[in-house]
Amino acid sequence: MFHTTYNLQTLNPMQLTIQNLSKTYPNGVQALKNVNLEIPTGMFGLLGPNGAGKSTLMRTIATLQEADEGSIQLGELDVLRQKSEVRKILGYLPQEFGVYPKVPAEILLDHLAVLKGITNSRERKEVVQALLHKTNLYQHRKKNLGGYSGGMKQRFGIAQALLANPRLIIVDEPTAGLDPGERNRFHNLLVELGENAVVILSTHIVDDVKELCTAMAIINHGEILMTGNPIETLKSMEGKVWKKKVNKADLESYKQKYNVISDKMISGSPVIHILNENDPGEGFISTEPNLEDVYFSHIFNHKVPQPA
Ligand code: ADP
Ligand code: MG
Repeated sequence: MFHTTYNLQTLNPMQLTIQNLSKTYPNGVQALKNVNLEIPTGMFGLLGPNGAGKSTLMRTIATLQEADEGSIQLGELDVLRQKSEVRKILGYLPQEFGVYPKVPAEILLDHLAVLKGITNSRERKEVVQALLHKTNLYQHRKKNLGGYSGGMKQRFGIAQALLANPRLIIVDEPTAGLDPGERNRFHNLLVELGENAVVILSTHIVDDVKELCTAMAIINHGEILMTGNPIETLKSMEGKVWKKKVNKADLESYKQKYNVISDKMISGSPVIHILNENDPGEGFISTEPNLEDVYFSHIFNHKVPQPA
């Protein structure tokens, strides 16, 4: 773990509590509708399609945007009022993370550390070196950021987000655009962070959540559709997901008749997953539910069994 002497805090477990949070943009789009969430220390996945309201929620938690209604509590802090207190313990990686292309990573990180209030130069050097090591960028520290790959830029984004030893870390769609190797390295980095902080990760990629998060929420059209532990949620769907390879021409009629939660082309024919309490017959076979089934069940608003 990354520890320095400059900011030893008592590491009580933190919790983020969001109550009745709503936001309507001036153009009339209601981006958040009465959002309620309890987010404990650890990795929390906020899963939803594009336009669901993820970035709006994350910018609001990150004190960068006002809500119309509601409250956010982080430990003892009232997030919407005590903004500067929150910023001291916040690490935020926005969805669009711009870097100055002509500046070497090490120099920019040092500069950002000054802005974060690490004014002692010896201490700052220690912090910067440690973060470059932690994010595997040490050997590339003299390189200009413009020459970094997507994965390296995202890791630099995490390095800057970690400058103040944050207790609340918000990363907005960090794996979009990364290749599988870069994505893996990035995931490993995130997992370590969840040990001492509330880490909120937004994504539209179901697998990101399955692999990383102990708790999750699904959001769509500004509404939280479900919250829970990914594994328990999967259990609650066990025995209720059925699959069948069908003819393309029959796809529509299956959609009329059943709760089709997904259809995927597999070697030229659609394979559908349906949600059904009992064996529907007709050649359907039972299949292990996956997180994608959970996701699409909620996004398409099918009746989903709730965990007991
Ligand atoms: P996500 O991050 O899940 O893709 P966003 O929070 O970016 O969702 O957007 C939620 C909704 O709010 C979308 O319909 C989007 O078009 C709209 N929206 C986002 N930002 C603004 C803004 N600054 N002004 C007006 N509408 C916005
Ligand atoms: Mg977004």
